[in-house]
Amino acid sequence: MITLDNYDFSGKKALVRVDFNVPLNDQFEITDDTRIKATIPTITKILSDGGSCILMSHLGRPKDGPTEKYSLKHLVPALSLKLGVTVKFADDCIGDEAGKMAAALKPGEVLLLENLRFYKEEEKGNEEFASKLAKLGDVWVNDAFGTAHRAHASTAIVGKFFTDKVCGKVMQAEIDNAQKVLENAESPFTAIMGGAKISDKILIIEKLLDKVDNLIIGGGMTYTFTKALGGQIGNSLLEADKQELALEILKKAEEKGVNIIMPLDNLIADDFSNDANTQVVKRGEIPDGWEGLDIGPETAELFAETIRKSKTVLWNGPMGVFEFPTFAKGTNAVADAVVQATEENNAFSLIGGGDSASAINNAGMGDRVSYVSTGGGALLEYMEGKVLPGVAALS
Ligand code: AMP
Repeated sequence: MITLDNYDFSGKKALVRVDFNVPLNDQFEITDDTRIKATIPTITKILSDGGSCILMSHLGRPKDGPTEKYSLKHLVPALSLKLGVTVKFADDCIGDEAGKMAAALKPGEVLLLENLRFYKEEEKGNEEFASKLAKLGDVWVNDAFGTAHRAHASTAIVGKFFTDKVCGKVMQAEIDNAQKVLENAESPFTAIMGGAKISDKILIIEKLLDKVDNLIIGGGMTYTFTKALGGQIGNSLLEADKQELALEILKKAEEKGVNIIMPLDNLIADDFSNDANTQVVKRGEIPDGWEGLDIGPETAELFAETIRKSKTVLWNGPMGVFEFPTFAKGTNAVADAVVQATEENNAFSLIGGGDSASAINNAGMGDRVSYVSTGGGALLEYMEGKVLPGVAALS
């Protein structure tokens, strides 16, 4: 695989797949620019070599072609400011106009194409569409790790039309950090798994059982474990058909000598709302009409104690419904402990995308851990051992 630093972009037009899928408010202002910031080093390297950039991305999930809400033109001012270059914009990602603008691009210039997903062909991985995109550049750079698990036209298929295919800096960092945790983790290695469902995380949990010393289980998925073990979970989240699987995971963990740490107590609510009535109860003692929406204070301390002593930490998924401040305490306590492990115990900490990344960034602690992944699903699939189409297309 060719890395960005090993390629000279001088005089080249680089077609760069970036992940500019950023959240916008009602005024089309960017509310979190993490993904844009992440791609700046890749773009800057291409420009400083004397190349030009044609940037392509998706934004949101447009259903019926061009939609104002999902137009990438809203990103042009912020991107221009960050790059110190006036970014040009093509209001169609293929076609004559995009072709002319790309052809006229001079070294040091940047062109942003309109949302790729305004064409259904993008997600279908359509070859003809990919070939039209490919005509715009001389070299393809893939820096969109967040969509690397999808075989879309711009993330994978387009690679067929290029001899020169280069791995961007975000993509490289994501792969290097995931590899570091999977292959060179220093012990004690603690994985913290949270979020809504066991079914989404089962493959990664199984893989991690061969690697970790401690597996902390929090979030909505704990209730399926608790129920399977005979506890009462009231109206908490349950995947009834995954109870057997939950017991199997516990058995495998025991066989492999992995220390599984589950909640001791839960913060429960009588409604799925920030203003619900709440109380703390022991695990497995949730009355009917109540649901567990966060770990309790004893659990937060128990989890934090293990995390703080770790040398490697992988965290994926919140400990509760952290979108409601009332139920964010457990997630914030875990975020604090991960920062302490990193800063005071010199641990390597990888925050696995999606909601855990939002949680740590919202708490203002994103730059106090070793690495915050930009890819949720993609990171999980990579760590499960799957070949990601967007990575495979680079070799
Ligand atoms: P995931 O995408 O699987 O990491 O799940 C993240 C989602 O899980 C977040 O939106 C949380 O609000 C939700 N979640 C975490 N804990 C709970 C819980 N105890 N009950 C319901 N939802 C939860």
